[in-house]
Amino acid sequence: MSKIAFIGLGNMGSPMAHNLIKAGHTVTGFDLSADALKVLEQAGGQAAASAEEAVKGVEVVVSMLPASQHVAGLYLGEKGLFSQLPAGTLVIDSSTIASDTSREVGKAAVEKGIKFLDAPVSGGVGGAVAGTLSFIVGGSADDFAQAKPLLEKMGKNIFHAGETGAGQVAKVCNNMLLSILMAGTTEALALGVKNGLDPAVLSEIMKQSSGGNWALNVYNPWPGVMEGVPASNNYQGGFQVDLMAKDLGLAWETALNSKSSIPMGSLARNLFALHAQKGNGSLDFSSIQQMFAE
Ligand code: NAD
Repeated sequence: MSKIAFIGLGNMGSPMAHNLIKAGHTVTGFDLSADALKVLEQAGGQAAASAEEAVKGVEVVVSMLPASQHVAGLYLGEKGLFSQLPAGTLVIDSSTIASDTSREVGKAAVEKGIKFLDAPVSGGVGGAVAGTLSFIVGGSADDFAQAKPLLEKMGKNIFHAGETGAGQVAKVCNNMLLSILMAGTTEALALGVKNGLDPAVLSEIMKQSSGGNWALNVYNPWPGVMEGVPASNNYQGGFQVDLMAKDLGLAWETALNSKSSIPMGSLARNLFALHAQKGNGSLDFSSIQQMFAE
């Protein structure tokens, strides 16, 4: 069993840390929120007063923070954790951030003999609670092999995407495609319904035909067509529009830096940004349906 520091105990980090505790690991956590630390203690973890205190004597550090600047701030610079972690420590950053930042942090880690993996996740809060997340990992094969048993305590599908930064690139590619599939599906459903079709009948036809996709199979965006999905619960729960807009921003940044053309991704980014601006940021991303249907 390992001694683990967990930094960032929010919607995702908290249940992930709990699953590590359940698996028998010793987890010391730090978050800026005192409430998050209380929840960790109730689950059997130890609360630290700072990130520096949390990492004392641990073999592994896991971070789950909002964005690039938080991750760079935690590890880099004179006061960053890399200035105090001993060589050989395994650092797993599961935040969804810019691949360039992951590479910058990974490079700084290597200079100190620290092992660094970018390991963003897919599967949302439900997956974090159930321990069924997908981890999309970038880093060396040896570091990946060392981390895999730990990641398996928090997730079901553990992918090695390639070298440092590759996890972030694969994650934004997937989410960009998902946003395009969802926007296209909602547009097709609205067109059919405006022309007299029943959304459930049209969904079934497209599902069994060449337009079939993940949104139609398991996440139908039209209210009432499928049970148990956010669309049938006023678009509550699920994956927030704000988070999709953030990931599409990262996809755009990745495209810009690599001189890649992403016309569909750019359109999807604008659609989700507009939808968020209209006050829908906290709704599930399938609520983009509202843009096409009255
Ligand atoms: P969240 O805002 O709920 O949690 C982030 C936590 O980090 C907060 O509790 C905050 O207090 C803490 N924090 C911020 N700066 C800190 C610092 N310097 N030191 C310690 N703690 C600090 O966010 P979340 O939903 O848990 O998402 C975390 C990451 O996971 C994001 O990058 C997000 O894009 C990604 N993600 C989220 C989901 C989802 O469905 N929520 C799904 C996949 C990936």
